[in-house]
Amino acid sequence: MQLYDKHHIKIYNSLTGQKEIFMPINEGYVGMYVCGPTVYSNVHLGNVRTFMSFDMIFRYFKHLGYKVRYVRNITDAGHLENDADEGEDRIAKKARLEEIEPMEVVQRYTVDFHNILNAFNFLPPSIEPTATGHIIEQIEIIKTILDKGLAYEVNGSVYFDVLKYNETNDYGKLSGRNIEDLIHNTRSLDGQSDKKNPQDFALWKKAEPQHIMRWPSPWSDGFPGWHLECTAMSTKYLGEHFDIHGGGMDLKFPHHECEIAQAEAWNGQTPVNFWMHANMLIMNGKKMAKSTGNYILPNEIFSGDNPHITKAFLPSVARFFMLQANYRSILDFTNDGLLASEKGFFKLMNAIDSLKGLKTDTISSFNVKDWQQSCYDAMNDDFNTPVLIANLFEAVKQINQIKEGKATIKTDDLEMLASSMTVFTFDILGLVNPSESQNDSGKLEGAVELLIKMRDDARANKDFALSDKIRDELLEAGIQLKDGKDGTTYSTK
Ligand code: AMP
Ligand code: ZN
Repeated sequence: MQLYDKHHIKIYNSLTGQKEIFMPINEGYVGMYVCGPTVYSNVHLGNVRTFMSFDMIFRYFKHLGYKVRYVRNITDAGHLENDADEGEDRIAKKARLEEIEPMEVVQRYTVDFHNILNAFNFLPPSIEPTATGHIIEQIEIIKTILDKGLAYEVNGSVYFDVLKYNETNDYGKLSGRNIEDLIHNTRSLDGQSDKKNPQDFALWKKAEPQHIMRWPSPWSDGFPGWHLECTAMSTKYLGEHFDIHGGGMDLKFPHHECEIAQAEAWNGQTPVNFWMHANMLIMNGKKMAKSTGNYILPNEIFSGDNPHITKAFLPSVARFFMLQANYRSILDFTNDGLLASEKGFFKLMNAIDSLKGLKTDTISSFNVKDWQQSCYDAMNDDFNTPVLIANLFEAVKQINQIKEGKATIKTDDLEMLASSMTVFTFDILGLVNPSESQNDSGKLEGAVELLIKMRDDARANKDFALSDKIRDELLEAGIQLKDGKDGTTYSTK
């Protein structure tokens, strides 16, 4: 008996607009594909939020005992500046501006991506394939779609024929757009384009002479369209029909809509049972995005070196902040929100640290089994982490009452409480306890908090020579203290 036999997850399926009970295609196995980053710049906190949602989902499936194959790709070619197949390749453009090889751009930002995700305690996916590693597979898919008459070749490029496909299929079923509106709303072709209709999208593009990232194909030396790589890589590793496909909400259209169309045109079956979309992180009322400059980088959160925040925050505090919102809700990034999450995070960690020393009794005044069930219920309801966290705080309240002698707990209940707190907080939410962290930022946080406390004591004793010395010497070591109405905070320079 596995935990998944007892716990049935309801997942909101973007394709049907409903929460549905998750039934895997193969019992005991989950195949999940998530669109990875285009590695042409540092990941911002918005990107991290989407990947974090799927990290939490991956962790929960694993906890329930499923064997999960989680595929998250790296887009290292084919993603043009504009989603309508226009503009330069994002990676090639960066390479041109920096006068380096495109693959140097790819390497630099793939390493950055991994470092950031490690800092946030992500689990690595089972497979992390790259678009450039799957050019042959992409060419084979194009050949079949051409044979089926659902794509056409013009001047060395191949385009997907959306109107033809829509005669027998439903283009727009994921994003809820209908073809008439799309035709009405897309600007007409300017005569420069090879496309028959503006809705059509590229499967293969012939490379201009200056385009460095190019591969031979039956049609031209060129490169694959952006949507095709995900169809090739997801089906190669998960099969032509798999359980879950995820990504950020902004990928629903056109990227995922096009993925469905390609896969259906190619092999006649719908590729995915559950489409999942994580909602956006916003800042100043607008989506966090590299292109508009409205973003914050994870390293700026860890150092405090950004005008939007007043201090440095641990990666686990930022993680906690993001998981306090439902993955399907928009989340507004604010300094106040982070400060509140920091308080809550340390309250939770302190309660967990104190579990070891709790005294037991002959009766429990708190029903631990029901509480544990509520934690599962929250996660089974479409991975509702804010409700799970509210349950964890209910346990914190009980732990503190037991400490104060206002409540009691039996030995076996205490064991269940301690193990469930660990499972939900660390294994499923993926938080790291700074008191047990092997990582330097956790130790630094602890040491600086201690010095801040010593300085507060010195000031309370009117020993200003000592309090100034602590402040000045920390500053010399690159740590700046800031006194505010809610106490002293710090940032690293
Ligand atoms: P990209 O590298 O632009 O393809 O984006 C990588 C992932 O980050 C995609 O799944 C996007 O949907 C997601 N993403 C981009 N901006 C945000 C944001 N502001 N909030 C949440 N996710 C985002
Ligand atoms: Zn994709």
